[in-house]
Amino acid sequence: MRKVSIFGATGSIGQSTLDLIKRAPDEYKVVALTGSSNIKQLAADAKTLNAEIAVTADESRLGDLRDALRGTDIIAAAGQNAITEAAHRPADWIMSAIVGAAGLAPGMAALAQGSTLALANKESLVCAGKLLLDTAQTHGATILPVDSEHSAVFQALVGEDMAAVERIIITASGGAFRDWPLEDLENATLAQASSHPNWDMGQRITIDSASMFNKAMEVIETHEFFHVDPKAIEVLVHPQSMIHALVGFNDGALMAHVGPPDMRHAIGYALHHPARRHLPVERLDLAKIGTFEFRAPDESRWPALRLAYQVMARGGLSGAVFNAAKETALDGFIAGQIKFTQMSDVVTATLEQLDVADSHIDATMTLDNVLEMDRIARFQARSIIEKRAG
Ligand code: NAD
Ligand code: MG
Repeated sequence: MRKVSIFGATGSIGQSTLDLIKRAPDEYKVVALTGSSNIKQLAADAKTLNAEIAVTADESRLGDLRDALRGTDIIAAAGQNAITEAAHRPADWIMSAIVGAAGLAPGMAALAQGSTLALANKESLVCAGKLLLDTAQTHGATILPVDSEHSAVFQALVGEDMAAVERIIITASGGAFRDWPLEDLENATLAQASSHPNWDMGQRITIDSASMFNKAMEVIETHEFFHVDPKAIEVLVHPQSMIHALVGFNDGALMAHVGPPDMRHAIGYALHHPARRHLPVERLDLAKIGTFEFRAPDESRWPALRLAYQVMARGGLSGAVFNAAKETALDGFIAGQIKFTQMSDVVTATLEQLDVADSHIDATMTLDNVLEMDRIARFQARSIIEKRAG
């Protein structure tokens, strides 16, 4: 039996992963499941799958988790350190589906034991791509991309020589405000930003899709994971979300990955890699769909995209600043402190201020330095938000 752990098990990616695992319970031994506030879901899944340990990020909920697991021999634990400790438990395959920079330390712990890390948590690649890849190499661990665009690129590259790759095109649905008049964006509400036309995802990534911060993160993720020049990475708006990415080769060929917008495809590909196995996803009827549309992304609508290229050009720990400022700006929007369009202003200002004021950006990329940069950037972004709100 393959030993598997799912970090962020109660979220959208975590639940899709468990859906696949529950369909073949005899093939997997579940080691660790983690969540945060949804104790009921965490405990129910831990019991169904007879996990070794269930961990909540929220220390105040440890009692609730213990109560929910009473009568079983499943270990209950709480807190960020307990999550990282759970990632040290031997497992063959580990899903990294915590949202935010909180996914970085457990991902590093999983790699340090030489496991296969299925990486949905894009924030860790943006903050510390080189560190993650170097750690994987040092410990003989494997990182498999789970973000749909990166899984698509990974699949299009099977058997290919990277030297023949001219460009990588990742697609974007355009999110909730793709067709809104530009002048209305300023007054977009939280509810409006939290609904996605095609994908059913967690709230934070859904809002990031509307602002295209999600795509900006994915551009950086592409650069870090596939080692391609930023100039060779393009974003293409494709409202149907059925072509997930295209790889352009030096002979002019474009290899596209086409599939329904269902994350169980990318998760299943990483779960069974290098094999392909039957997956319970819709089979596309292209004749019925009829038309695929494409548009160039409009930077005045999605300023986040420009920031991604700025971060790649700057290098160092600027990815950690970008991510922390983005997460803080998103918190500010969710809390009603700033408007939708001010999120990119906060990230721009944080990047500018820290680049001038802080030599930390050029510090060596260690886990401690990345986490310290993350802390500094959150503090800076919060003070920018407070000034704007006040
Ligand atoms: P989600 O909000 O639905 O779930 C997040 C999970 O992380 C939950 O289990 C939650 O309990 C846990 N969590 C939240 N804060 C935490 C913290 N501080 N410490 C530890 N655990 C914490 O998110 P999601 O949509 O499943 O996305 C998960 C990750 O996968 C994100 O990095 C996202 O960008 C990425 N991703 C998601 C999709 C998608 O379709 N949902 C697609 C591609 C990539
Ligand atoms: Mg994606």
